[in-house]
Amino acid sequence: MKTVNDFNFKDKKALVRVDFNVPQSADLKVTDNTRIQAVKPTVEKILNDGGSVILMTHLGRPKGKASEEFSLKNIVSEIEEVFGKKVMFCADCLGEEANRMTTELQPGSILLLENLRFYNEEEEGDTAFAEKISKYADAYVNDAFGTAHRAHASTAIIAQYFPSTKFFGLLMAKELEAVEKVLKKGEKPVTAIIGGSKVSSKITIIENMLPAIDNLIIGGGMAFTFVKALGGTIGNSIVEEDKMDLALDILARAKAGNVTVYLPVDVIGADEFSNDAETKEIDIYEIPEGWMGLDAGPKSQKLFHDVIMNSRTILWNGPIGVFEMPNFSAGTVALGNSIAESTVLGAFSLVGGGDSVAFVKQFGYDEKVSYVSTGGGAMLESLEGKELPGVKAVNS
Ligand code: AMP
Repeated sequence: MKTVNDFNFKDKKALVRVDFNVPQSADLKVTDNTRIQAVKPTVEKILNDGGSVILMTHLGRPKGKASEEFSLKNIVSEIEEVFGKKVMFCADCLGEEANRMTTELQPGSILLLENLRFYNEEEEGDTAFAEKISKYADAYVNDAFGTAHRAHASTAIIAQYFPSTKFFGLLMAKELEAVEKVLKKGEKPVTAIIGGSKVSSKITIIENMLPAIDNLIIGGGMAFTFVKALGGTIGNSIVEEDKMDLALDILARAKAGNVTVYLPVDVIGADEFSNDAETKEIDIYEIPEGWMGLDAGPKSQKLFHDVIMNSRTILWNGPIGVFEMPNFSAGTVALGNSIAESTVLGAFSLVGGGDSVAFVKQFGYDEKVSYVSTGGGAMLESLEGKELPGVKAVNS
């Protein structure tokens, strides 16, 4: 893997694809600058070498039309604050102004190009569009992990114009190393914890991970499909009846591959899908009609804790209860605490994929695990074993 650390950018211009698709308030102020913070080391490395940086990104879904709402000029001041440096802005990513500003760019300076998705060619992966942009710089750097699963002009197609000067940014390298640490080089025992609502959305991840793991904890709504398939009574709990055979197949394949599967043994039952529901602890195989399991019960929490404390590598994807409701968040909180405790003892823990990051941040676990991925869809696809177009383009 070639990263920016393998090149001296002195007097070179680097086109750096970042993912500044940041959340904004109604008055277009940046409400979470994590994605800007995340690429600071890459930008600093290039500037410290004596190079200059041309930042390019998309923001939102402007569908090929320029608009105030999706303009990157609204986030320039936030970028300047995070980088602690002046950032010049070019109000179009193509055209005379962009040609002039990129030509005149001096070592040590940063230029931000306007939203790439103001042109349909970006998402279409248009070659001519990519080639025009490639002319601005001597090197191409991809540090946009959040968009690496898309074969867009700036994330993949453009790399071909930099046959010997294309590199991964440091964020991208960290994300790819984290996946590798779990799937390929994980110190054993390796434990994957897969939660969330549905088996169907996690099946590819589970299948891809089976050869790499020793333990599989299945929690959250998806556990009920397994429990019902095993003959349990699950009351009104969420279930995918048409995935029950698949659930049994996964269990059989896990067994054949010496992977131990842990399902919850008890739940916090509720008489309706509401934070105000009446609740009681119930055996997961004996949930009466009119009740549904909305969180992992205390026995399950203890079971999962013991497995996690015995693990050296941990992947966590998805909550194991309806964490959005405070009365059903205890299982997910306990799980996070167990992972944090195991991490202190030296385990490597990766959290990511889909919306995982939401609950991790809500409960402050981002400070307590080894790595939290910045890319929902891209991490999901990496764990599914797919080669991301943005990664392939830089590697080939
Ligand atoms: P996913 O996007 O597939 O990772 O699923 C996340 C969602 O699963 C969260 O919104 C949780 O509220 C939901 N979830 C977790 N456990 C349960 C459960 N026992 N019943 C219903 N939904 C659940």
